Amino acid sequence: MSGAAGGRSRFDLPEADAFTRAYWDAAAQGRLLVRRCGACGRAHHYPREFCPHCWSEDVAWEPASGRAALYTWSVVHRNDLPPFGDRVPYVAAVVDLAEGPRMMTEVVECAAPELRVGMELEVAFREGVPVFRPTSR
Ligand SMILES: [Zn+2]
Repeated sequence: MSGAAGGRSRFDLPEADAFTRAYWDAAAQGRLLVRRCGACGRAHHYPREFCPHCWSEDVAWEPASGRAALYTWSVVHRNDLPPFGDRVPYVAAVVDLAEGPRMMTEVVECAAPELRVGMELEVAFREGVPVFRPTSR
C-alpha cells in the first residue's frame, strides 16, 4: 500500500455518482438541495434514494432555504488530508437545517469564541461545497 489516500488528491469534494450528481451540480451553482419524502413529508440529508424515516422510495429533490441553526462544533487544529492541512484551524460543525435535517458542514467567517449553540447561519459555497456562515442580518 502506498498510503490510504488511494490516489485521491483532495477529500473535501466527494466523488459524485449518478444519484448525487444533481446535488453537487446544484451546489456548484450556489443552491443547496435536500430530499423530501412524499410519503411521510420529512426531509433528510445527506441525500439518499429512499426515506431514512419510513423507507419510502417516494423521495424528491427540493431547494433548501439555506437557513440553519448551529447544533454543535469542533475546532480542528490538525488534519493531514489535503486540502484541510492548509485550512487549519477550521470549525467542523453540525447544523440543523430549517427544513429539519441535521448536516455535517463547516462554519466560516466566524471566530471560534463567537460560536453559540443555536446561532443562526446561512449557507455559503466554497468551491462548490456548502459551508455555513453567520446570517448577515
Ligand atoms: Zn418518509
